[in-house]
Amino acid sequence: MNFYNLNEDKERLGFADAVCQGYGKNRGLFFPASIPRLADIDKLLEMPLVQRSVEVLHPWVGDDLDKDQLSAIVRQAFDFPVPLVQVDEHCYVLELFHGPTLAFKDFGARFLALCLQAFQAGKKTTILTATSGDTGAAVAHAFYGLENIRVVVLYPKGKISRYQEKLFTTLGGNIETVAVEGNFDDCQALVKQAFEDPSVTQNLNLNSANSINVSRLIAQVCYYFEAFSQLSPRHRNQVVLSVPSGNFGNLTAALFAKAMGLPIKRFIAATNANDTVPRYLQTGRWDVQATVATASNAMDVSNPNNWPRIEEMLATRIINPADLSGHAVSESETREAIKYLHEHGYLGEPHGAVAWRALQSTLQSGEVGLFLGTAHPAKFGQVVEKVIGEAIDLPDALKNSANKETLSTTIRGDYAQLRNILLAEGKGH
Ligand SMILES: *Cc1c(COP(=O)(O)O)cnc(C)c1O
Repeated sequence: MNFYNLNEDKERLGFADAVCQGYGKNRGLFFPASIPRLADIDKLLEMPLVQRSVEVLHPWVGDDLDKDQLSAIVRQAFDFPVPLVQVDEHCYVLELFHGPTLAFKDFGARFLALCLQAFQAGKKTTILTATSGDTGAAVAHAFYGLENIRVVVLYPKGKISRYQEKLFTTLGGNIETVAVEGNFDDCQALVKQAFEDPSVTQNLNLNSANSINVSRLIAQVCYYFEAFSQLSPRHRNQVVLSVPSGNFGNLTAALFAKAMGLPIKRFIAATNANDTVPRYLQTGRWDVQATVATASNAMDVSNPNNWPRIEEMLATRIINPADLSGHAVSESETREAIKYLHEHGYLGEPHGAVAWRALQSTLQSGEVGLFLGTAHPAKFGQVVEKVIGEAIDLPDALKNSANKETLSTTIRGDYAQLRNILLAEGKGH
C-alpha cells in the first residue's frame, strides 16, 4: 500500500516508511493511495479479534511485515478485552478502555510501538512526545521495555491529574519523563524545537509517535469490526456511529472502516464546546476559535490535526458527505448524560457521555446507536463522582501506579535544558 502526502502529492511512501516518518514534507499527512476493500464481511465478523484484525491490517501493511510477523504484533498489541455493552433498548457502547492505560489510545500506541520496533531493525530510536494527559501514558506503556527505543515524554507540570501523571512517570527503564514548568503549548513548542535542531536530529533518530501516524489510525479500524462482530446480525445495516472527537483520528479510522466495507449506516462527529467541526459541517466555514476547557478534556481541541484526511474522503466521495453530521454537546448536557446513564445502570464518563448525548438527538426509528467509551470512568473520577454522588472504584492499573515514586525531571521550559537531556543519554546512539 502506498501513501501520498496530502500537502505534496508527489511524495509517496510505503507503509513502513510512512510509519517511521510520521509527517510528510511540509507537515503534510499521509493518505492511502486507495483504501483496501474487503471481501465477505460476514465471514470476517465470525472470526476472533486477532485473526480478523490481521485480515483487516494486512492489505495496508503489504509486504512490509509478513503475515506471521503481523499476527504476532496484533496478538501482543490487542491482548485486552473490547466488550460491546448494551446501554438501553436502542443503544450500545464499545468499551475501549480495558488496556493498560485505560483509554482507547492503547490500541494505536501499542500497534505503532511494535511496528516501529520491527521496521527500525535494531537501529536506536528516540521517541519524543508531548502530552496533555492520555497520549503520554499510552505511548510510555506501549514502548516500555522495548529494546533500542528510548522514550522522552514532556508534560505540563501540575496541569494533569495525579492519576494521569502516576501512570507514566513511575515506569523508569527506557521511559524518561520531563515535567515542564509551563502549559501544554510550551511542551509542544519544545518538542518542535528539538525536531528542528540539527544538533539533535543528526545525533538521534527522532520520532514523535503522535496521533497523525498512519499505524495508529489503521489499528483503530480493527475495533469497529469488533463492535459489529458482537452486534446481532439483524442490526448490522442500521448502525449510527457516534465518535467523541478531539483530533479526529478515531473518526478517521471509522470512515476507513466503512470504506473497507463495514456497513456503518452513518456517522456523528460528537464534540464538546470546541465545535469547529460541527459548525463547519453546517455552514461550510472553517472558523477556529480559542480552545475552551471542558470536562471531556481529551477533546479540548479547536484545530483538529486529522481533519485534512476526513476532508479528503468527503471531497473524493470515498464517504458520502450526507452520511456525516456533527453535533456539539454542552457541559450541562454532558453532566446530565452521565447522570441519566448512571440511573439506567451504566457508569459513563465525560467523553463517552458526549457521544451518547449526540446520538439521542438524531437516532431515528429502526436505527441502532453505537458510541465509543474512550476512557475508564475512574480516569475522570472527580467529575463523575460529583455528578452521580457516589464514590467509584479504582481499577488496579491506577491503584498500583498511584503508590509508586514519580521519576520525572523538572525543567523551567527553556530549550537548552531539553537539549541537554536529549543529548546526554543519546550520545553514542
Ligand atoms: C484522545 C481522546 C479522545 C479524542 O480522540 P481523537 O481521535 O483525537 O478524536 C476522546 N476521548 C478520550 C478519552 C481521549 O483520550
